[in-house]
Amino acid sequence: MAFRALVLTLMPDMFPGTLGQSLAGDALGRGLWSLDIKDIRDHGIGRHRAVDDTPAGGGPGMVIRADVLAAALDAAIPVEDARPRYLMSPRGRVFDQAMARELAAGPGAILVCGRFEGIDERVIEARGLQEVSIGDYVLSGGELAAQVMLDAIIRLIPGVMGGQASDLEESHEQGLLEYPHYTRPREWEGREIPEILTSGNHAAIAEWRRDRSEALTRARRPDLAAKIPPKAPKKRKKPPAEG
Ligand code: SAM
Repeated sequence: MAFRALVLTLMPDMFPGTLGQSLAGDALGRGLWSLDIKDIRDHGIGRHRAVDDTPAGGGPGMVIRADVLAAALDAAIPVEDARPRYLMSPRGRVFDQAMARELAAGPGAILVCGRFEGIDERVIEARGLQEVSIGDYVLSGGELAAQVMLDAIIRLIPGVMGGQASDLEESHEQGLLEYPHYTRPREWEGREIPEILTSGNHAAIAEWRRDRSEALTRARRPDLAAKIPPKAPKKRKKPPAEG
């Protein structure tokens, strides 16, 4: 069954947003994944459909009410649903390529987008929401974070990308940043394409790319460099037969 995304938000008009375009939008049209958007405000309280209230203990901003979000979750999620449930949150585990790949192989994901100061902690606990962050900065809402997550996941769903091999060479797939790319013209503003890339020697090109990937990773991301996987040993030429 295709990957099924369910998003709960106070800003439903922000969807599909970027996910309706390009690779993700095309895959949505082809039925390789589905997107269900639920408006949390449909479960708001009273005539004004209030979804938030002042923080217990005082302080700035407003907090999304536990009862409102729980009602939205309970109405949207069938009882037997194997999809993991995430709350977009700068306090969460940082989303990465390994997580994108794991999710792309699963049944889908449920993503809750926060707004205001945050969400009542009790609903996070009671409904088993796992907090996930897209980086160490604060957005004004979880909608862009959900779209970032879904974009990274969807391109890994089988059939979404044309060249299936290319995704395995990308940055963060093998613990390395990707090597530099070049295309035509061969010379531009006095800069030449590295000669090896026009040599036609595929083994030498693969080795050059691996070396450039390692050098870039060491220079730009020392945190990743410590975990660079060892190179595959070079194939040794057979010694000439004696006699
Ligand atoms: N007061 C919160 C804090 O300090 O952790 C930040 C709230 S933020 C203004 C509003 C919402 O944006 C959050 O509830 C969350 O859903 C979303 N958000 C903000 N930054 C995010 C990030 N780095 N990753 C994922 N979601 C984020």
